[in-house]
Amino acid sequence: VLHNMVLDLRGNIRVFARVRPPLQSEEDRMLCGWSFNDETSLEIHNNELVPSTGTRKQTKHDFSFDQVFDPNTTQEEIFEMVSPLIQSALDGYNICIFAYGQTGSGKTFTMDGADQKLGIIPRTVKLLFDSMKTAEVLGWKYTIKASFLEIYNEVLYDLLSNENKNVEIRMANANNKTEIYVSNLTEIEVSTAARLHELMIVARSNRATASTAGNERSSRSHAVTRLEITGKHANRPEILVGMINLVDLAGSESPKTSTRMDETKNINRSLSELSNVILALVQKNEHVPYRNSKLTHLLMPSLGGNSKTLMFVNVSPFQDCFVESVKSLRFAATVN
Ligand code: ADP
Ligand code: MG
Repeated sequence: VLHNMVLDLRGNIRVFARVRPPLQSEEDRMLCGWSFNDETSLEIHNNELVPSTGTRKQTKHDFSFDQVFDPNTTQEEIFEMVSPLIQSALDGYNICIFAYGQTGSGKTFTMDGADQKLGIIPRTVKLLFDSMKTAEVLGWKYTIKASFLEIYNEVLYDLLSNENKNVEIRMANANNKTEIYVSNLTEIEVSTAARLHELMIVARSNRATASTAGNERSSRSHAVTRLEITGKHANRPEILVGMINLVDLAGSESPKTSTRMDETKNINRSLSELSNVILALVQKNEHVPYRNSKLTHLLMPSLGGNSKTLMFVNVSPFQDCFVESVKSLRFAATVN
């Protein structure tokens, strides 16, 4: 009973922690001590040498999450935990899946994947088209519309367009409801997984082009992959509309000191406002500050209410990342 109550209170927000493995090229870096006590709790410790007294001081931090993934966890195992959420978008739910963590912690690996190890986004595409086929037999017809956005320094960019169009979040009143949409955004209806993969490649290459060697844009921007799914049954009047937002967030580390102060504030705003929004939702506050940043405003229809949110907190295994890892875990444990 207690277990159910706790789950109930937390609503539709889940947090998973994932520690990535060291890569072959990183073998000279010192690892933190990690223990994965069970499926939900992990411990991180960093052995710090204190030279003045010569004694070794040990610090230890305990965190609990809905699920904890150790470095050996495969992309398949991760997606097994994610797929029920994707399925529910076909039933008309709005979904957000975020990857949060410092640069190099495995956010893009988790969302996109690398070297044939497909991440959540390509697996979502496959699952959607497979499920649509199955549902078709039962009389359902689905359509998918895809769009790709980047938010950098509180400005929105359409990743499917090369023109410098002004992409803005707008509100419209329809049927006594305020709806949020994005003006000038390229949205493309796709009927095959292959077509959607093509669009993903275009979006990715447009994002890479915008990010030159001289700036840190790619690690400082949020990439949103958005799939709107509409379902109609042959013998029923209602229309189901679900939305999946897959978000590779900007690096959570503090920006370099050389960045100008006002810029720093702007660049971090969407990330810090996202924590404020999630905290407000978890605490069931009356006021949720969605409109304080572009990211939270954009995602407003998919955060809160009966939407479902999953946050991955990605952490690096290294000792030199200890401080940022603890910060990420602490943030994620608060909203958990
Ligand atoms: P981020 O997007 O957070 O900056 P990346 O996803 O680019 O981090 O990860 C940094 C590096 O580590 C990349 O080379 C990536 O392929 C690799 N990597 C991350 N997570 C894993 C993992 N679970 N297994 C294997 N390699 C990983
Ligand atoms: Mg990345």
